[in-house]
Amino acid sequence: MKNIFNETYDALEDYFISINDKKYRATQLYDFLYKKRIYTIDNMNNIPKNTKEMLKKDFSFNFIKIEKKQTDENVKKYLFRLLDDSLIESVLMYHDYGISLCVSSQVGCNMGCKFCESGRLKKVRNLETYEILEQVLLIEKDLNIKITHIVIMGIGEPFDNYDNVMNFIRIITSNKGIDMGSRHITISTCGLIPGIKRFMNDFSQVNLAISLHAPNDKIRNKIMPISKVYKLNELIKVVKEYINKTNRRVTFEYVMLENTNDSLECAKELANLLKGINCYVNLIPYNETENIEFKRSKKNRILEFYDIIKKNGMNVTIRKEFGTNISAACGQLRTKREDL
Ligand code: SF4
Repeated sequence: MKNIFNETYDALEDYFISINDKKYRATQLYDFLYKKRIYTIDNMNNIPKNTKEMLKKDFSFNFIKIEKKQTDENVKKYLFRLLDDSLIESVLMYHDYGISLCVSSQVGCNMGCKFCESGRLKKVRNLETYEILEQVLLIEKDLNIKITHIVIMGIGEPFDNYDNVMNFIRIITSNKGIDMGSRHITISTCGLIPGIKRFMNDFSQVNLAISLHAPNDKIRNKIMPISKVYKLNELIKVVKEYINKTNRRVTFEYVMLENTNDSLECAKELANLLKGINCYVNLIPYNETENIEFKRSKKNRILEFYDIIKKNGMNVTIRKEFGTNISAACGQLRTKREDL
């Protein structure tokens, strides 16, 4: 039986047509699920009895469960238990401009970035669309809030679960339901080129962030195994194609690792690599974790690095830190049972 929260609006229209019902039932159902937030079919008062029976027969309305939540100032980390007992995490952040949620897209991750706590657990499976969407629905209900921004940057590589993640975006941006603006959504990839190519055709208005983390293949190969498959020059080429096609600015994420990728030569090389590209560079102070030997770059070095990028005329920021006390910061999410 399919989970109802996997269904895009178009898929539901097709479903109602296939059971010889009215196409507009999709509008009614989306209205209950995503506007009124009513999840019990019997409480959907203007849907006829026959349709309700069909829906009960064909769909489950199951939810994942909130297992635990932790708070650190303006950050909340949620641990979810999925129906098969797998665990995933999401991080909610309160900003001046709104409330963002960083969602997970897989149980574990196969990309093996050496500095990343989230990827220490190998991929167990992709999340289904409903498991991504329910992270949003449950947290909104739990806190009685409206999440304004989504970043798909939690556990997992979203382009390694392309179809389910894209259906999540279709559902959350549908004007029949939640109607979140595409530009309020950011998807982050470690550089899966086929995914970027598909994405530029499918979702030109959703923001793209590239986890770059090195200015050349030599360093990147050491910290991001994916770089052995997709070389930096190919990655940069496809990013340029993306910008040409979509006219959107791309963000390059660069985690600052002491004595690994933070030399001033690296900064110059990075500026050179990205010269002429319509982009932001986001320098991320590394969040050290007990299991991984990388160290955070010294504050001074981050500032020197920043200056070099800036002097080369690029848009550069140093990421504000969130949630380090509850291991909710970037690259610190994990799904180990000791977290319970
Ligand atoms: S940084 Fe992202 S892609 Fe890399 S291992 Fe961690 S979760 Fe996976």
